[in-house]
Amino acid sequence: MTSFDCKNKFKPLTEGTYLKNAEEYKRLYKQSIEDPNAFWYEKAQEFLTWDKSFTTISSGTLKQGNVKYFEDGYLNVYQNCVLRHKEKKPNDVALIYEADDPEDARTITWLELSEQVQLYARVLKHLGVKKGDVVTIYMSTSPEAVYAMLACSYVGAIHSVIFGGFSSEAIKARVLDSKSRFIVTQNLARRRGKLVPMKATVDRAIGGLDFIRSVLVDERVSNMKDQFEMKSNRDIDLKPFVSEFQKGGKYENENADLQAMSMNAEDPLFLLYTSGSTGKPKALIHTTGGYLLNAALTHKTVFDIREGDRYGCMADLGWITGHTYIVYAPLVNGTTTLLFESTPDYPRITRYWEVIDKWGLTQFYTSPTAVRFVMTYGTEPLKDFSLKSLRVIGSVGEPIGVEAWNWYFKNVGKSKCYLVDTYWMTESGAIMISAIPGVTTLKRGSATLPLFGINPQLLLNGDNPQNQELNLEKKSKKQFLEIAENSQSGILTIKGHWPSITRTILGNHKRYLDTYLNPYPGYFLTGDSAYRDMDGLYFIKGRIDDVLNVSAHRFGTSELESAITLHPNTVEVAVVGMPHKIKGEAIFVFCVLKDKRVDEKKTKNELKVLLQKTISKVATPEHIVLVDSLPKTRSGKIMRRILKKIVTKNYEISTYGDLSTLLNPDSVKQIVQNVKKLF
Ligand code: ATP
Ligand code: MG
Repeated sequence: MTSFDCKNKFKPLTEGTYLKNAEEYKRLYKQSIEDPNAFWYEKAQEFLTWDKSFTTISSGTLKQGNVKYFEDGYLNVYQNCVLRHKEKKPNDVALIYEADDPEDARTITWLELSEQVQLYARVLKHLGVKKGDVVTIYMSTSPEAVYAMLACSYVGAIHSVIFGGFSSEAIKARVLDSKSRFIVTQNLARRRGKLVPMKATVDRAIGGLDFIRSVLVDERVSNMKDQFEMKSNRDIDLKPFVSEFQKGGKYENENADLQAMSMNAEDPLFLLYTSGSTGKPKALIHTTGGYLLNAALTHKTVFDIREGDRYGCMADLGWITGHTYIVYAPLVNGTTTLLFESTPDYPRITRYWEVIDKWGLTQFYTSPTAVRFVMTYGTEPLKDFSLKSLRVIGSVGEPIGVEAWNWYFKNVGKSKCYLVDTYWMTESGAIMISAIPGVTTLKRGSATLPLFGINPQLLLNGDNPQNQELNLEKKSKKQFLEIAENSQSGILTIKGHWPSITRTILGNHKRYLDTYLNPYPGYFLTGDSAYRDMDGLYFIKGRIDDVLNVSAHRFGTSELESAITLHPNTVEVAVVGMPHKIKGEAIFVFCVLKDKRVDEKKTKNELKVLLQKTISKVATPEHIVLVDSLPKTRSGKIMRRILKKIVTKNYEISTYGDLSTLLNPDSVKQIVQNVKKLF
């Protein structure tokens, strides 16, 4: 891996940078690990406004699974995310809404945001939403969804945002699991210019669920009343209803002076289901104080946030990335944040670049899957855009791989912007490992260094032959399984806790303990494996279960996939292990080609040679199957667990587990057919 000397390549850092240099990072990082209470005390004062100050900073342990932060402190989310900014800069832009149709774009000021959130909160209160109630939000990435999210905490409720593309079955399972009696949705949504029946989907989901009290329906698309039904005594047309609470309306005086609820720092702020890449999605709970603090701190640090920035994260609100880095972190920091409702190729393949230039975005944050998608169109679509406002570009969700990293850095970042590969997960609430612009080293393919309070430890994997010597040595010294040395791979864990760690799985604390905390007492198990290079920088190798053991050599899916995508005609690749009598496991490659009109045999051979050359002879694939697309979650991650079933010759899709978050079921059918042909 090549290290970049970034110093001369980046736009000069001007005043306003949060951290000044690497020394400051090192000093603060050391404090955050060695004296976390002192560190978090200071940051809690700096980033948040408290109604009632706390006397305890943190308590509990990972071993017991009872971690708490600021447990006797009280704060109010509305004040932190909206009010204090409204008071300072009422007419500045808080939200940029880049609607599906670019013509529908609009901006919302801090003043407007505060008014709308209050109105939504009064509506929820009127309907009887109380502290601790779960409110389901099933909407597109839109200002109304943000109003609904913030209105929940205003009245002390917990939101459960469900990605707006999910099926009625997926909604039903989540509404039942969370016992949510209130739903906020839209009549229809627009996605790539097409109408999506949101309300009708909700109706199918909740048919027969008698405990549903209210369904609030925002009119996202006008004049569509004939497209769905409204059930009396349950369904409410939100826009006119909200108007009744405004000046001159029927409920003008009802709760007119409703104050935002002061929340205990440990009160749940929201619950959110994971992406479902490795199994049935887990409903994780995030609390208020610690979550907001670490969201804001990581956002400020990783994206080099400064006053006046226009920050754009392209994720959907329905993922943790949307929650933390579209809504809560930017709002706590008073940063203008963009809501992107569309896709990178609608109405044209230039959409991302149009958005950046149109709004003068200073930060742009997206996923490797989106980068790989726009890459397939080459650099031609970029030629009319300067992208000169950008300072930081980011990636999240999967290992970005060398090829995509280079393309993104060169063509979007113009080799000047800092590219932050941010490693984290729903459970962590906020970024855990990432470069810091202008402060820490940048290395392509690496998420680099831990952020404050995150103490990553690579643990030995007992069955890893490469580690056997190290293993024996450690055992003889009666050391735990931590790998202290660099240039080593291991199971990625986080030692100790941090403020935004998820506190539990909804209704299943045992599963929480068993999944994350019990496997290595005192450590949080991320589920991923990583390599720490000679400079101490981290490379995420893939999921622990996806690490392949081929003839006693261990390969991370990410390193194999990254090598294959170096081939100029590959777009996306997924590698899984297939049981093999002699090798233990054999490498099975699924590959999407850019240009499909090539000699397949020749291409497959080139891919084979590429793996042998860049990795090793042992990495010679057993099979390479060319497909049109790979099965992915709606958050853009490859669902390798499906591919793993297929390569064991299990062709029964109904046995593949929870597929509620699968984006493209058709791809599975095609892959099954192509694999069947092999055997
Ligand atoms: P589930 O937990 O339901 O199986 P999931 O793990 O995909 O789904 P998320 O919380 O959305 O759900 O994703 C977190 C995972 O995404 C991480 O554990 C890691 O595997 C991967 N990931 C996120 N960011 C990065 C990154 N920058 N580099 C490598 N992998 C990443
Ligand atoms: Mg996960």
